[in-house]
Amino acid sequence: MAALFILTFPTPALMSAADVQSPEIRFHALVPPGAAAEKLAGGFRFLEGPAWHPTGAYLLFSDIPAGKVFRFDASGVSVWRDPSQHSNGNFFGPDGTLYTCEHGARRVTRTSPDGEPMPVAETFEGKPLNSPNDLVVQRDGTVWFTDPTYGLEGRKKEQRANFVFRLNPATGELRAMAGEEFGQPNGLCFSPDERRLYVGDSDEKQHLIRVYDVAAADGTLSDGRVFCTVVPGVPDGMRCDRAGNLWTTAGDGVHVYSPEGELLGCIPVPETPANLCFGGLDGDELFVTARTGLYRVRLPR
Ligand code: MG
Repeated sequence: MAALFILTFPTPALMSAADVQSPEIRFHALVPPGAAAEKLAGGFRFLEGPAWHPTGAYLLFSDIPAGKVFRFDASGVSVWRDPSQHSNGNFFGPDGTLYTCEHGARRVTRTSPDGEPMPVAETFEGKPLNSPNDLVVQRDGTVWFTDPTYGLEGRKKEQRANFVFRLNPATGELRAMAGEEFGQPNGLCFSPDERRLYVGDSDEKQHLIRVYDVAAADGTLSDGRVFCTVVPGVPDGMRCDRAGNLWTTAGDGVHVYSPEGELLGCIPVPETPANLCFGGLDGDELFVTARTGLYRVRLPR
């Protein structure tokens, strides 16, 4: 019994190690105590789709109902694309190519060198997409996007599910990788090693994030499972940090989860956030689009 006691109850040294790993301490290693969301700009209608240009030192973001894409840089905010076809998610590929989800045109576009959006995905099985919402580009250039119904706005849904799609931009091949299990697939991101794909379900009855294992050869998803349930509100945009922690928008701010799905903490945001991305010249800024405002949280380098 004595040996069992020793094994079961931690020594003071072990308790100290456990303290170091508490969620609060791990959270504050990522987000300093007192870190606050700083409002960079306001007066918009509904913001989403923040994307930091990998070399250009600027951020793009969408005002969906206003039908514009804005640019934020050291000199402030300016209109970058007008009209935007009510664009939502934006993502810069590794070579700086911009991909955009457009609710209005029900398509995904790639921005050509002359600045014009060129469609790269418009139909699946011969039918119009629902309303592509958010997207992510892998290191090899493969594009993944979600296709919920939020942007249909009275138009007929023609897809048989709300899919998660994988697009090979070189060949145009579009494959449905997941969908039946979703109410409304929305934000998505890969783990740093791209072996896991996270997809949020913003359906109010679901309000959870699923995670899948990703086959390196062809992207096939397996072992889909619930990673976490998001409360309050629903998950929307999300990103992984370099350590694999998952940062997602939620009803009360930005929630940070460990790679194991443990909630580490929340960064409050004055307005309900819908999307986020990392950026800044040193990669130590978190940009958050939240209804009518663009916010920033400065993080440790
Ligand atoms: Mg979204």
